Amino acid sequence: MSDGLFDQFKTWYEKRHDYARAWKQKTGGQVAATLCTYTPEELLIAADMLPVRVLGSHETQNVTEPHIFGMFCPFCRDSLAQGLLGRYDYAEGVTLTQSCMQYRQTFASWRDHVPTVKWDYYLPMPNEVQSQFAKRAHYAEVKKFRAFLEGVIGKPIADGRIDEAIEVINENRRLLKELFDYRKQTDPKATGLEALYASLTAQFIDKREHNEQLKKVLAALPGRQMNRDEGVRLMTIGSENDDCAFMAMIESVGCTIVIDDQCSGTRYFWNEAKPGGDPIQAIADRYCDRPACPTKDYPVHTRFDHVLSLAKEYNARAAIFLQQKFCDPHEADYPDLKQHLEDNGIPTLFLEFDISNPLGPLRVRVEAFLETLSEEELF
Ligand code: SF4
Repeated sequence: MSDGLFDQFKTWYEKRHDYARAWKQKTGGQVAATLCTYTPEELLIAADMLPVRVLGSHETQNVTEPHIFGMFCPFCRDSLAQGLLGRYDYAEGVTLTQSCMQYRQTFASWRDHVPTVKWDYYLPMPNEVQSQFAKRAHYAEVKKFRAFLEGVIGKPIADGRIDEAIEVINENRRLLKELFDYRKQTDPKATGLEALYASLTAQFIDKREHNEQLKKVLAALPGRQMNRDEGVRLMTIGSENDDCAFMAMIESVGCTIVIDDQCSGTRYFWNEAKPGGDPIQAIADRYCDRPACPTKDYPVHTRFDHVLSLAKEYNARAAIFLQQKFCDPHEADYPDLKQHLEDNGIPTLFLEFDISNPLGPLRVRVEAFLETLSEEELF
């Protein structure tokens, strides 16, 4: 497609550091580097800050070895490298909400070794979100985070400001969902790569501006002509994935990615906070209730049925696991989730991701997988 409809998202993605610097200059606000999608962005926005989710650059690097193990996941290493290389030198703060142990080490090393950090905050969050005590415990932690941020900006954050931030983020979630809904159709009006640009940029662009851009795109989508064959409809499953070159490669070999279960996609925005009462409770509940990351999905694996229902709802013919090498939480889920999908008629392919990925060999594997699907259809 070359109608330019998603170009703004692509430009934001590629020039995300320039955007954040310009935002600071324009608003005088602080930037908070966030290390997980469990971060309650609502509070940062209510504090007039710009939450910027840290992403890797997919370039080889040699700066993390003294700080974290080489067998930590590539996303952790690439993210830390970005801090150590000064790519986020505009961010006053860095914050992590507890998800996996590997990311916690990235946070600790960032806090200790990135010289531009002025404040840092580790937000504990129960991993057993299914416990009857989880929401109460998380409520207390979100409240402490609010008090911490009030100390950083030197003034109270009123409930009304938090309600406003909840509404802005909820609108962003609704608009992204509306965009993703178009992908249920035959010959979807957005490719997987375009949808990824939209959901990724929501994680570091000012939400109000992002909402306006989403509205423009949504207004144009009904009349959009897609001059491409949808081919095989695929789902992607995994943790963080912003390897856009890889996504473009998949969609160039006779496929369309129609849905995902990834924190760069649906897991980030799928559910809304429910405003109307105590805004801190609304935030705490929302993050406990969101589609779970494997680090927070026990004793019951709620995500297995959620992933399957997304595959069915978006009419995915097959699924590809995009596994960050050494990611224990996703690896532990993989055998049973694969079985669950295959038992229910969704064939799967497993690919392992590193900081940079060799597109040629991965293309061969995807093409071989597509061939097995077409052979299945002959019988
Ligand atoms: S990819 Fe896995 S190991 Fe890496 S930060 Fe995410 S959950 Fe943790």
